[in-house]
Amino acid sequence: MNQREKAVQLIDENGLRIDGRRMDELRPIKMQVGLLDKADGSAYIEQGKNKILAAVYGPREAHPKHVALPHRAVLRCRYHMAPFSTQERKSPAPSRREQELSKVTREALEPAVLSEYYPRTMIDLFIEVLQSDGGSRCAGITGASLALADAGVPMRGLVAACAVGKIAGKIALDLCDAEDKQGDADLPVAIMPRSDAVTLMQMDGILTPEEFETAFDMAVKTCHIIHEQQKTILKQRYLSIKQEVEEKTEQGRRKEE
Ligand code: ADP
Repeated sequence: MNQREKAVQLIDENGLRIDGRRMDELRPIKMQVGLLDKADGSAYIEQGKNKILAAVYGPREAHPKHVALPHRAVLRCRYHMAPFSTQERKSPAPSRREQELSKVTREALEPAVLSEYYPRTMIDLFIEVLQSDGGSRCAGITGASLALADAGVPMRGLVAACAVGKIAGKIALDLCDAEDKQGDADLPVAIMPRSDAVTLMQMDGILTPEEFETAFDMAVKTCHIIHEQQKTILKQRYLSIKQEVEEKTEQGRRKEE
């Protein structure tokens, strides 16, 4: 497919993308925390058509014992796509891609976790992609960092992630699946917005140094926007817990009277 054909398919005459977005427009993001009772922490994130659940167990006693480290907690991560998350049924067995994404997700989150507070323990993180539409590793990282916070894992700050790509020769924010597949490049980035430390940066395709700089700046700016949304969701969650506790205390006090 040549550049011109890509331009006709991916960007229309008004400069809009296949899903009607502008080049610098993020897909709508919805987040929810604390939705699973059994896990210590959980979060759900929708980014465009991506639907992703993240669950955290721990810090808890390391098992098997030989994986424990004497000076810090071990973070384990599993990124998994459900068989029904793609157009064609995906094999439930972990693929090479899922193994890679489990590793980069762990590495993107590890710098944020104050793991030295919990020596000899482990923290298990599960990311289950229920529906995928491009950019699932980034949405998974954003959701997983909320699930860690929901589990009460002490952190230096949250981690927010988003990808910037190149379609039909132009830089575009937050590629969807079709753009990812037919596009020229994709640059997923995760940062700890409190310090701007970069915890994930991968690149698929080719960008010129100038395009790379534009894409990277756009990704960092967008991670800050996503971070604001993460903070709002966490605050709402803790205000509702506070209200629940106050109501229960009040009910107990009335019963005693
Ligand atoms: P990311 O989801 O982080 O962008 P990739 O670039 O590897 O990761 O994948 C892009 C998209 O390709 C995914 O979000 C998903 O929609 C689709 N995809 C990935 N693996 C498969 C698969 N095994 N079968 C069908 N679609 C897949």
